[in-house]
Amino acid sequence: MFDNLKKKDPAVYELTQKELQRQRNTLALIASENYAPMEVLEASASVLTNKYSEGYPGKRYYAGNEVIDQVETLAIERAKKLFGMGYANVQPHSGSSANFAAYRALMKEGDTFMGLRLDQGGHLTHGSPVNFSGQIYKVESYAVDKETEMLDYDAIMKQALQVKPKVIVCGYTAYPRTVYFDKFRAIADACGAFLFCDIAHIAGLIAGGAHMQVGPYADVVTTTTHKTLRGPRGAIILSNKEEHAKAIDKGVFPGSQGGPLDHITAAKAVCFHNAMQPEFRTYAAQIVKNAKVLAEEVQSLGFRLVSGGTDNHLILIDVKSKGTGLNGKIAQDALEKAGIICNKNTIPYDTEKPFVGSGIRIGTPAVTTRGLKESEMKEIARLFGKTLEHPSDEAMLAKIKGEVKSLMDRFPLYPEL
Ligand SMILES: *Cc1c(COP(=O)(O)O)cnc(C)c1O
Repeated sequence: MFDNLKKKDPAVYELTQKELQRQRNTLALIASENYAPMEVLEASASVLTNKYSEGYPGKRYYAGNEVIDQVETLAIERAKKLFGMGYANVQPHSGSSANFAAYRALMKEGDTFMGLRLDQGGHLTHGSPVNFSGQIYKVESYAVDKETEMLDYDAIMKQALQVKPKVIVCGYTAYPRTVYFDKFRAIADACGAFLFCDIAHIAGLIAGGAHMQVGPYADVVTTTTHKTLRGPRGAIILSNKEEHAKAIDKGVFPGSQGGPLDHITAAKAVCFHNAMQPEFRTYAAQIVKNAKVLAEEVQSLGFRLVSGGTDNHLILIDVKSKGTGLNGKIAQDALEKAGIICNKNTIPYDTEKPFVGSGIRIGTPAVTTRGLKESEMKEIARLFGKTLEHPSDEAMLAKIKGEVKSLMDRFPLYPEL
C-alpha cells in the first residue's frame, strides 16, 4: 500500500512503519482509541481527498460533485439508520467541532448550559474555562455523587429546575456507568431545556446494542467516529427534530468549517456499514464483557475502582488507593515503559492536581478489536499489577514490556501492511 511513499518520502514512510510497530507491540488500553479496519484506512486514503465540496448534497458551491453527493448521501442515510434518527450531518472534522456547531444551533452567546464537571468525566467542550464552551456560554456544572461516584439524577433534576439552562449535556469521557438518557429527558422536559447527548465514547456500544439507545430521548446527538465506533477520525451530528436540522447544517458549514473531508466521509460510510453487521453486536458485547472481567481482576489486586466497577467499555482506577505512593502520573509513566499504554485521569473529588491525578483510565475497545477475550484480560491485569508493584524498577519494566509483546504477537495487527 505504501510503495510510493517509501520511494518519495522515506522519512515519513519510516515514521509510519515505526508507529505500526509501536501499535503492534504495545497494549492499547486508552479508552478512546481503536484500530480502524483496512477498508476504513483504504477509503481514507482514496482520491476523494482531492475534491472541494463546500455545501451539502445537491447544493454545492463548486462543480463536479456528482459522485461526492452520492458518497455523502450514502453516509448520511447509513448514519440515520444506524442510530434510528431522522437527520444527520456527517461533515464535522472532530468531536469538538461537532459540539461547536451543535451548541451554535441550540444557544446564543451568553446562554446557560449544564454539563458534567471536567474533573469528574466531562469533556473539555462541556464547559471548561480554557475551551470555547466555557468562554462563549455560561456554564453551570453538575457533579457525581460523592459517595457512589455516580450521577445522582434527583440532584441534577433539582439543580436544573433552579438553573433553568437552555441546554443539558450528557455523555462523557471518563464515566464508567450507563447513562440513563430517559432520566435526562425527564430532567430536560421539567426545566424546558434541550437535551444534548454527546455519545463520543459509547456510540459503538449504542450502535451494537450494548448500551441503552439515545435516539428516542435526545434533541441533538454528537459523536466521534473513531472511538468505540471504530471508524476514521471525525464526527457526526444527529437529530430527530426538523427544527434543529437547518441550524445544525448552518453551524457546520459555513458557521465553523469550510470544505468537508470527502475521503473521511467515505470512510465514515464504511464504518456505519460495518456497525450495522451482526458481528458488530458481538464486538460491542465483548467490549463490555472484557471490561467487566478486567475490572474484577484489577479490583482483586487491591485497587479501588471509581464507582466500584463498570457497565461499559472503561474503568477508572484509583491507583492512589493502593497506598504505595502511586499517583496517576507515576503509574502512567511506569505502565508506558512496560508497553501498557493508558492515561492518567482525575477521579471525582480528586485531591491531586489535574496534571498528576489519582487515577488511571483504561478501556477495552482496542484490545477487543484485536481479538483478546476474558482469559487475556486476566493476563493484562497481572501485567498491570506487576508493573505498579515495581514502578521504578527499570529492568522489571523492560521484562514486562517483553511479556506484553509476546501477548500481542499472538493477535496479529494489520498483517497485510
Ligand atoms: C473524545 C470526545 C470528544 C471530542 O473529540 P475530538 O475528536 O478529540 O475533538 C467530545 N466529547 C466527548 C465526550 C469525547 O469523549
